[in-house]
Amino acid sequence: MFPPTRAAGLEALADFVPRAGAAYARQRNVDTGPPRTNVSSLSPYIRHRLVTEREVVAAVLGQHSLPAAEKFVQEVMWRTYWKGWLEQNPEVWRRYRRDVAELIDAGGADTPEYRDAIAGRTGIDAMDAWARELVETGYLHNHARMWFASIWIFTLRLPWQLGADFFYRHLLDGDAASNTLSWRWVAGLQTKGKTYLATASNIVRYTDGRFHPRGLATEASARTEEPLPAPSPIPDAEPGPSGVRRGLLLHEEDLALASLRREHRWLDDGRVVAVAGGADPDSRSPRGVSEEVRRFTAGAVSDGLERAREAGDAQALDAVSPASVVEWAATRNLDTVVVPYAPVGPVADRMTALRTALHDRGIALSTTRREWDSVAWPHARRGFFPFRTQILRLLSQQRIPGSP
Ligand SMILES: Cc1cc2nc3c(=O)[nH]c(=O)nc-3n(C[C@H](O)[C@H](O)[C@H](O)COP(=O)(O)OP(=O)(O)OC[C@H]3O[C@@H](n4cnc5c(N)ncnc54)[C@H](O)[C@@H]3O)c2cc1C
Repeated sequence: MFPPTRAAGLEALADFVPRAGAAYARQRNVDTGPPRTNVSSLSPYIRHRLVTEREVVAAVLGQHSLPAAEKFVQEVMWRTYWKGWLEQNPEVWRRYRRDVAELIDAGGADTPEYRDAIAGRTGIDAMDAWARELVETGYLHNHARMWFASIWIFTLRLPWQLGADFFYRHLLDGDAASNTLSWRWVAGLQTKGKTYLATASNIVRYTDGRFHPRGLATEASARTEEPLPAPSPIPDAEPGPSGVRRGLLLHEEDLALASLRREHRWLDDGRVVAVAGGADPDSRSPRGVSEEVRRFTAGAVSDGLERAREAGDAQALDAVSPASVVEWAATRNLDTVVVPYAPVGPVADRMTALRTALHDRGIALSTTRREWDSVAWPHARRGFFPFRTQILRLLSQQRIPGSP
């Protein structure tokens, strides 16, 4: 269903654009099962930036007015919002990682209830079908994700962190911010005290009667947590590096190299003498990810490298441990390794370790952040609704044709 290439992402985008206006606004909440035409199914491509958020919004506004496509643009901006929010609240990610590890260590993933839920054996027809669809395809419709998370937490009474981990291990679009914060939102942690309760009538209605779930919880009391520390401001983007022998290291957070080059002209000044890339999707969970996620992520990075190769030299790194990157950098006699900015999540954790390992060998690590993120993220301080009021300004700052 999802060939892991930029070409496939662009084809899916071109196919979807005519439906991104009023039809999307009207029908996006309906889930009649695969194949779907009412939503874009672009998330695996956007998540790895095989296709960027900017490209998607620009393509849609090339065919629809902003009022007609407002709903779709807003959904894309949810992704940017979640990323900006987590960037300013990294403690949420640290706690999530700690909790998942502790729950698994304590046997939380060995209970019959957990095993039945992930194997599609709960006896709740919709839940069982979604668990199987997720494992088989690596994708779920947004409404199904909301219902699934709600039933997991409030009907099955399983820990939300283990549900988020199950999604993160199987979603081709598995994303630290969108996944963790959406699960927190359903559990009543993200908008404190406000939970999402899945009801049988809503599921029957929006699945066109495919499912008739029984025995769902009728109330959803919010989960609670220790207060979070104050948000930390987003640091300024780093300036271009000063080194003269630079290597570009691609990773699974951003694989649209050509547009990165257009944004950061210094990437084309002849000082980038080597390109390499690699991914480590298994770092998303203590239990690793599914074979489908592994295949998609590896394929996406290979595709990024293939496109880099057209522009010169590029090498796939089988191992992405700091030691193997240091070895590559040393063999190529690099003074700087440049990486696309990795937002809070496993790749950022990997880059932190890499920075130290490179520093010990006298090699600098330099990050390059996209203007889209730098402009939007600081506005993701509070809820989505104040963020939404900034969207028009953000789009015009991005000089997207069709924006005001
Ligand atoms: C519990 C839960 C977990 C989720 N986990 C992830 C995840 O790991 N990765 C992920 O990309 N999305 C996640 N989402 C958000 C959303 O469900 C998916 O982005 C969407 O279903 C992808 O399908 P689509 O490409 O057809 O979306 P469309 O409706 O066509 O939307 C276009 C694009 O906008 C973005 N988008 C749409 N809705 C959302 C949203 N609510 N939040 C963030 N971005 C959105 C995606 O990049 C998507 O591809 C989660 C939602 C829930 C409720």
